Amino acid sequence: MNIVWFKRDLRLQDHEPLLNAAHLGKTLPLYIIEPKLWEQPDISQRHWCFIHDSLRELDESLSSYGGRLIVRIGSALSIFEDLRQKLGNFSLWSHEETGNTWTFRRDIALARWCRENGITWHEFPSNGVVRRLKNRDDWSQLRNERMQNAIILPPTQISFYQGIISDALPSKDHHIFGNNSEGRAQIGGRSEGLKILQSFLKERARKYMLTISKPGVSARHCSRLSTHIAYGTLSVREIEQATKEKIRTLQGIKDDDARHLIYNLSAFLSRLAWRCHFVQKLEQQPEIETQCMHPAFEGMRESHFREDYFEAWKNGKTGYPLIDACMRSLIQNGWITFRMRAMLVSFASYHLWLDWRQTAPYLAQLFTDYEPGIHYSQFQMQSGVTGINVIRIYNPIKQSLDHDPEGKFILRYVPELKDVPKSFIHEPWRFPNTSAHYPAPIVDHKEAMHHAREQISERRKVSGFKESAKATHKKLGSRQSPIKKLKASVKNNEQMTFDF
Ligand SMILES: Cc1cc2nc3c(=O)[nH]c(=O)nc-3n(C[C@H](O)[C@H](O)[C@H](O)COP(=O)(O)OP(=O)(O)OC[C@H]3O[C@@H](n4cnc5c(N)ncnc54)[C@H](O)[C@@H]3O)c2cc1C
Repeated sequence: MNIVWFKRDLRLQDHEPLLNAAHLGKTLPLYIIEPKLWEQPDISQRHWCFIHDSLRELDESLSSYGGRLIVRIGSALSIFEDLRQKLGNFSLWSHEETGNTWTFRRDIALARWCRENGITWHEFPSNGVVRRLKNRDDWSQLRNERMQNAIILPPTQISFYQGIISDALPSKDHHIFGNNSEGRAQIGGRSEGLKILQSFLKERARKYMLTISKPGVSARHCSRLSTHIAYGTLSVREIEQATKEKIRTLQGIKDDDARHLIYNLSAFLSRLAWRCHFVQKLEQQPEIETQCMHPAFEGMRESHFREDYFEAWKNGKTGYPLIDACMRSLIQNGWITFRMRAMLVSFASYHLWLDWRQTAPYLAQLFTDYEPGIHYSQFQMQSGVTGINVIRIYNPIKQSLDHDPEGKFILRYVPELKDVPKSFIHEPWRFPNTSAHYPAPIVDHKEAMHHAREQISERRKVSGFKESAKATHKKLGSRQSPIKKLKASVKNNEQMTFDF
């Protein structure tokens, strides 16, 4: 008897646990809705909406094999204990999960329960993350080898165990998932994922790097695959191999258009690798959800928390038009492009001096693509607490001038500014006699930046700072040489704002 536990891998293709279980005999495909998980501060109904679409499609796909997806609501431990009582001992099959602290602890408790009850839990690697990695120097090669392996085909047949009844799939607005109903979530399901992968490879990627930092148009030209990867409707390997295949085809066409598309798709491939790199950090050090990577930064911001600043940032009312437009757009759409995410965090952490542990769960709830490994690593980077990354303080006015010069995006989300002349749209406080009901800047950019710079510099002076940073780099840092990184970022047209 084999139970396949679907977690963040809602597909039948490239699914090693399913293939192995189906080969061995009677199989029960299971998804567990754990109410306690949905009470965590980083999870929201928006995530459930995407999962809901994906589970429906997964169930449909399984029905073509003559069975159904069994959905159960409750704690994983009690559900598995109940199944053990009904079925006797079984083998459990799943992918390894690199989730938040809550799922990490649940998996530890479940592994113990399995050992105590003679249940074998077969866990398979997920995407490019290597569990129990001994040496960070080896990671890139291991990841790349895995990406080159053949894609695992869906089983040819599945012999379903029929004796277990599924709970009904709760609706998208069921109270278990909270009532955060404002805004919308991206559509889930594997067929939607494949559709957007194809449209990206065929056409949308043409303007990928040109628009990746432009908040008004990036939603169209970025791949938008992040949520599909986060919930596993597509595997990274499938996406990477499809992209490489496209590049091979284009290499046969010797024209500028093909070369241009190859350039964009290559930049996309690097990001897929970054993804695995970031999740690997959390896999190796789960504490990065709650502790600064560099201990010198503990205690730097915590006691300065300003609730009024937090509220203004959360609600898009800081008085900085691009910051506010980004936050409001995110609330409505559940996605915003990388640079604007970085800028929102930089503003909260440097300008408002808010502790990243208070702000990270809020954005996690808003990002439909919330992926703990990327999220917490990026939050720490953009807050200057890793000790191993360059400090970047984004200037919200410069970002606005560079990436929304005509203020079109700003006006879409901050209509209060509609009567402010275009030339003042980035700094409306400079417009004399404004009648717009829009707040004055919550802090002065230069003063706030100066304060942040001083505070960070002080912390970097503590004795042992460099040694500790070196140790973090050895364990979690990228192995790309700094020169190569700089070249890559120039090639990728990443003009970062080094205000420091
Ligand atoms: C503070 C902050 C928090 C973030 N939180 C998340 C998160 O919770 N989930 C998430 O998927 N991404 C996160 N990102 C990274 C990035 O912004 C998103 O992956 C990207 O915007 C998703 O859109 P896309 O799929 O169209 O990306 P594309 O540009 O098309 O990139 C393709 C894929 O590469 C990966 N990727 C892209 N950029 C990065 C990056 N900088 N670091 C790591 N992987 C990357 C993603 O899986 C993405 O789907 C965060 C970035 C910041 C600055």
